[in-house]
Amino acid sequence: MTSTPAPADDAVPEGWQPLPADHPLQRRRTPAGPEPELITSVRSLQDLIDRALGRGHPASPQEDAGLAEVHPFPFLALVGQREMRLALLLAVVHPGLGGVLLVGPAGVGKSTAARGVADIVPPVPRSLCYYGCLPEDIARGGLEAVCSDCARKYQAGEPLAVEDRARFVELPPTVSLEALLGTLEARPGQRPRWRKGVLAQADRHVLYLDELGRYPEPVLDAVLEAVHRGHYTVHRGGLAVTYRSRALLIASADPEHAPVARRHVERFSLRARALPLTPAQRRTLYRRVQAWQAAPDAFGAEYAAETQALRDEVRAARELLPQVHLDDDLVRVAVQVVDGLGLASTRAEYAWLEASRAHAAAAGRMHVTPDDLRATVTLALRFRARALTPAVVQDADDEDERLRAALDAAWAAAPSSPTPEEAA
Ligand SMILES: [Zn+2]
Repeated sequence: MTSTPAPADDAVPEGWQPLPADHPLQRRRTPAGPEPELITSVRSLQDLIDRALGRGHPASPQEDAGLAEVHPFPFLALVGQREMRLALLLAVVHPGLGGVLLVGPAGVGKSTAARGVADIVPPVPRSLCYYGCLPEDIARGGLEAVCSDCARKYQAGEPLAVEDRARFVELPPTVSLEALLGTLEARPGQRPRWRKGVLAQADRHVLYLDELGRYPEPVLDAVLEAVHRGHYTVHRGGLAVTYRSRALLIASADPEHAPVARRHVERFSLRARALPLTPAQRRTLYRRVQAWQAAPDAFGAEYAAETQALRDEVRAARELLPQVHLDDDLVRVAVQVVDGLGLASTRAEYAWLEASRAHAAAAGRMHVTPDDLRATVTLALRFRARALTPAVVQDADDEDERLRAALDAAWAAAPSSPTPEEAA
C-alpha cells in the first residue's frame, strides 16, 4: 500500500514530547557504528515490520521485568519475536479475526508486546461519561440506553464521545463475573441503571489476559464467547441488556506454568510462539530497555513518528480489507489441508483464510496469494487439536514442519491442468 501522511492533529500521542537535540538520548544514538537506519518512507506494514525487526535500528523490549510502564515500551522497539508481532499486526488489521494467543516461557516479551499493541490501533470513540455511554448506544437502544446526563447532552446536540487512543485493558484473574459482564445498579428512589462491565468497556480496545491458565473457567468462557460473538447479554432481575464486546483479545500462556484446555486454545484464531532471544537480540534489548527505563517519554518520542506511520498503515489496511479477494482454488487447498489434519472445527480454516486476507491487506494487495496462506498456516493451525501442554510446545517445530508439508502436498495435488483462460 502507499503511505499516507499522518494527520497533523494527532501526530504525536498525548504526553509525548519531541526529543531535544541536546538530550542525552540523542548523543547515545550517534557514537560508534553507523547511524541507525531511520524510517523515512513506509511502503507497507511488512516493510515496517522488516525495518523494525532490527538491523541497525535503535532499541527494543520484552517482558516488563517489573519496570513501571509510565509509557508502554513502543511496539516498534520490540526486539526479535517476528512471529508474535506478525500475529498481533494481523489481529489489529482484521478486528473480526479473533483472539491471539502468545505461547512461550515467561520473560520473553509477551506482555510487553501486548501492551505495545494498543499504540498501533487506530483511534476509537471514547465516552465522555463515567458510565461509558456512546452515541451508538442510543442508535441501538434509544435514550433509555444511556445515562440521564448523556440523554440530556444528546438532545442538546452535545458530543457524548471523542476520538481517543485505544486503551490496553488487562483483565485480573480475580475479576468477578459482575465486574466482567456488568450489572444493574439499584438507586434509591430512582430506576435501576445498567453499569457496563470490563468486557463492554474494552469494546474495540485491547483486552489482555496474562497467563491464560490462571483464569477461572467461567471467566474464560464468558470472555471467549463474548469476544467471539462481538456482543453479549446480561440478565438481571427480569431485565436484560446487550453490550458490544469487540475487544482485540490477546492472551499469554506458558504451559510449563499452567496448561490450557483444548477448548480454550481453539477459541483463539492465531497462536504465536514467543521464543527466547539470541544473545545479540538480548544485548540490543538491554540497551533499549535501559534507555526506556531512564527516560520513557524521550524513548517513546523516538518512535512516535514511526508509530504514527504504522497506525496510518493499519487504518489503510483495514479500509482495504473488505475488498481483498480470495480465489476458490486457495479456499479449496486450505480446506483440504485442514480436513487432512483431522481438524473438525470450521474455525480453523476461517482463521487461516481470514488471516491470509489480513496479510494481503497489510501488504496493500487486493488478492490473496499462496504466499499469504504460507505465511499464516502455522499461526492459524498449530496447537489446535490438543490441550496446550509442555509436550505439545516441545513438539512445535515438528508440528510446524508438518503443517507446511501438508500445505505443499495440497498444492502439489491441486489440479495443475491449465485453466480455460490459460488454455485458450
Ligand atoms: Zn452517560
